[in-house]
Amino acid sequence: MRALLDHLMPQSCLLCGAHSQANPLCPPCTAELPALPERRCTICAIPTPTGAICGDCLKTPPAFDASLAAWEYRWPIDRLVPAFKYGEQLTLGAALAQGLAHAIAGADRPDILLPMPLHPKRQRERGFNQSLELAKYLAKTLNLPLADQMVQRVKLTPPQASLPLDARHNAIKGAFEVAGDVKDRHIALVDDVMTSGASLNELAKTLKRAGAARVDCWVAARALR
Ligand SMILES: [Zn+2]
Ligand SMILES: [Zn+2]
Repeated sequence: MRALLDHLMPQSCLLCGAHSQANPLCPPCTAELPALPERRCTICAIPTPTGAICGDCLKTPPAFDASLAAWEYRWPIDRLVPAFKYGEQLTLGAALAQGLAHAIAGADRPDILLPMPLHPKRQRERGFNQSLELAKYLAKTLNLPLADQMVQRVKLTPPQASLPLDARHNAIKGAFEVAGDVKDRHIALVDDVMTSGASLNELAKTLKRAGAARVDCWVAARALR
């Protein structure tokens, strides 16, 4: 896959090499990306047999109220998202955002779109924030206000992926500070991948403490355990 990403021309589909005009993926490969099963927990987007709220959310309700995701985080999404995130294939951002826009088409409109903030040091290292890029696309296509300065990431945490799942909630505690007025607002958080949901949960918790009325999570991909 890495070799493919490096060697193909941008107008060739990153997955199969077919001509794909100006798009990073051709229509057949886009159609075959791994959709999440229809029946899912409305709170955390994990598939459940009947579409009811899952056991985890019943036992320990997260601070967010609902989650929507475009795809399951497995091949080839698990290679495409990092290729976008680490800046190798920026054009993938539009393809990922289009899928996300489709997944949230029937959702209640929030007052504000808020991308998962990066710590300034990470943002400097990486050069851009992948969640902000996705949120910008959604804000433009759905005509929603984008609030990318409303929350700051004040604690530099190790990448969540480097931590065991049970350590993630503690590591992220106190990582965010609200810098704007979120009182009684309905906020949609935008992120690339939801795995344990620890970062989104901590951010939602921080926003609720500051008075937010409702917090939804809109993510391109959901990792299933
Ligand atoms: Zn293709
Ligand atoms: Zn759930």
